[in-house]
Amino acid sequence: MTQQFDALVLGGGAAGLMCALEAGKRGRRVALIERAERAGKKILISGGGRCNFTNIHCRPENFISANPHFAKSALARYTPSDFLALVEKHRIPYHEKTLGQLFCDRSARDIVEMLEGECRDAGVRLFVKTSIQEVLRTTEFVVRAGEMEFRAPALVVATGGPSIPKMGATELGYDLARQFGLAIREPRPALVPFVLAPEDRDHYCDLAGVSADVAVSCADQQFREKMLITHRGLSGPAILQISSYWKPGQAVAIDLAPGSDVTEALRKLKAARNITTMRSALHNFLPSRLANRWLDLNPPSAWINSGLAELERTVHNWKVIPAGTEGYDKAEVTAGGVDTNELSAKAMESRKVPGLFFIGEVVDVTGHLGGFNFQWAWASGACAGRAL
Ligand SMILES: Cc1cc2nc3c(=O)[nH]c(=O)nc-3n(C[C@H](O)[C@H](O)[C@H](O)COP(=O)(O)OP(=O)(O)OC[C@H]3O[C@@H](n4cnc5c(N)ncnc54)[C@H](O)[C@@H]3O)c2cc1C
Repeated sequence: MTQQFDALVLGGGAAGLMCALEAGKRGRRVALIERAERAGKKILISGGGRCNFTNIHCRPENFISANPHFAKSALARYTPSDFLALVEKHRIPYHEKTLGQLFCDRSARDIVEMLEGECRDAGVRLFVKTSIQEVLRTTEFVVRAGEMEFRAPALVVATGGPSIPKMGATELGYDLARQFGLAIREPRPALVPFVLAPEDRDHYCDLAGVSADVAVSCADQQFREKMLITHRGLSGPAILQISSYWKPGQAVAIDLAPGSDVTEALRKLKAARNITTMRSALHNFLPSRLANRWLDLNPPSAWINSGLAELERTVHNWKVIPAGTEGYDKAEVTAGGVDTNELSAKAMESRKVPGLFFIGEVVDVTGHLGGFNFQWAWASGACAGRAL
């Protein structure tokens, strides 16, 4: 059976839903085609089930891309306030958790129901459990899925990246980009825990569950947030953030007591110079189990000023070379993707293939942790939706 539309949106995630509702509101006949049994599954599990749906301090600097300027236009044209207006229109209760991060008070379901409702009101036709077999371009785009055939002059690819395959993630977006001759920036897992090398694992991973406030640096970036020791390595917001910048083989520098002088009392002879006083000095900054373990493994070379100064430097610059990451199974997002040079920054439309759009995570734009990835999905989706 062939069905004719003005636009076909592939993928009913955050970006696809937003794009479809914006285009529908403008009177376009839109088909939103989703492989899973329902739309917005990743939204439902996001933010621990409460969906960190945006960040009020959203700036272009919160995004990683081979072209750091690309996202500016879309982010300026659909802002956190625009999404918030939608949330408030639907009377969804929300709160700011920390650092501008907005979460639902009740559940992420509120956001999915809001987007589905907006799509319904805009006349969008949602096809779930619809697996795409083939996409062709004749005089228009043709999408084949089982017995169904969809046709439209515009095609929007919103199928996300390969992170969390058990949620139904696929590489269809990259396959379509290649099919139509668009370049791809090497995809890699991002916002992902580190796995430590065997020796470090033996040293630290029995402390799984211990967390500390640290500043983590790599590749000229620094994040000051919590770090968590896991059974296989390191996680927590500080580690997830830096993982998006990390390349295999690089060391990350961990400041265990940012902005503080840990050995001051010992150096100034206000406290005795021995392992007991050193431990209690470090307990002011780190959980005692981590402080003790770390000191056992990194004792001062001597209890003289130079030895203490060296220890101070190491406390602020603990170098760890992760063996790797937990990969796509645990990565919140995929960095890399469709090269932004291929797309117009205003509408996300392919420069080579008019009528073909890429939005959301499939594009080489990746947000920091804290609601930025959804803001990119809303912004890129809305810009494409308004151009259809
Ligand atoms: C556990 C977790 C928690 C997160 N929490 C947050 C958060 O709180 N705040 C935040 O900003 N970001 C969060 N993120 C990131 C955020 O979920 C993504 O950045 C965002 O969902 C990307 O939107 P998208 O529409 O591009 O892709 P997706 O949401 O992944 O949607 C893609 C859709 O395409 C469908 N699809 C894929 N292949 C096919 C195919 N072949 N045929 C048809 N359909 C297909 C998928 O089923 C899916 O519904 C989280 C991610 C994870 C994994």
